[in-house]
Amino acid sequence: MKILIADDDLTSRLILKALLLKQGHEVTVTCDGAEAWFEMQKKGSPRLVILDWIMPKINGVDLCRMAREKCETSSNYIILLTALNSKQNLLEGLQAGADDYLSKPFDDDILKARIGVGERVITLQLQLQKQASTDVLTSLANRRAGLLSLKGELNRASRDTHGIAVGIIDIDYFKRINDTYGHLTGDDVLREFGLRLRSVVRSYDQACRYGGEEFLLIMPGGDVSTSLRWERIKLAVTKTTFKTRSGPLKVTLSLGYSWDFGENSVDTIIAAADRALYEAKANGRDQVVGSAIK
Ligand code: GH3
Ligand code: MG
Ligand code: MG
Repeated sequence: MKILIADDDLTSRLILKALLLKQGHEVTVTCDGAEAWFEMQKKGSPRLVILDWIMPKINGVDLCRMAREKCETSSNYIILLTALNSKQNLLEGLQAGADDYLSKPFDDDILKARIGVGERVITLQLQLQKQASTDVLTSLANRRAGLLSLKGELNRASRDTHGIAVGIIDIDYFKRINDTYGHLTGDDVLREFGLRLRSVVRSYDQACRYGGEEFLLIMPGGDVSTSLRWERIKLAVTKTTFKTRSGPLKVTLSLGYSWDFGENSVDTIIAAADRALYEAKANGRDQVVGSAIK
């Protein structure tokens, strides 16, 4: 497990690091609170953090408070490891947001067991996060996760002014498939549709299941207003029949898209793509329509 430690005392740092390495962990070492905070904010930084209390720049308890205030989607599991050992200290540390509290000098086996608890909590959190952001049927990102990443992409775009294209795809006459062959066959189509979408988009694009038989595609960069890439996706997804338990089925889709350079909100760009989708349906389906934000 990846563990971040912060301690200003060289000897404690070396002892702790050696022990954690011996226990098979990967250790990032920092010498004061500011350095630790910098590491904690990095993408992919260790989830489990062991903090000394008294350190220069930012102390361990303030770090706990900062981590709890910031906590967006991922949160740290924080163990305070400190020479301060009164009941009052323990209460203050836990109230500041520490998950666990150990006083120095610590017992190796107890620290190991406490880290084990942290690992269990982190694993559970990761599983829950994954479940909460994944669509069960297609394994694509779900609506919540899709809208969250669209928000992130729009923020990024506003900083460096690259464009984002957003498409909403809706399967044509999907209800008929359910009505004719049953819901399980409909599910087969949705699953296959998700797989095809995933395989046609680039690694930095996002495909998500927006709702029932609607999908959202987020594509940063490139010539965002052109319909070419959307036409390609439409062709790639629908050119061959879908294999289902009721035999091969022909499926078509309608796609509405819009684009933005980080100037508009998620709702505005989605509304524009939705208008375009409505137009694609009204024009007879099986087509791509683009609509600029008005
Ligand atoms: P249009 O061309 O106008 O989009 O018509 P449509 O039939 O595709 O659209 P409509 O919105 O009338 O029907 C969508 C259907 O999708 C209705 C709903 O029961 C079905 N549906 C939504 N989620 C699921 C699902 O998870 N599995 C299955 N099998 N069907 C679903
Ligand atoms: Mg629909
Ligand atoms: Mg439909």
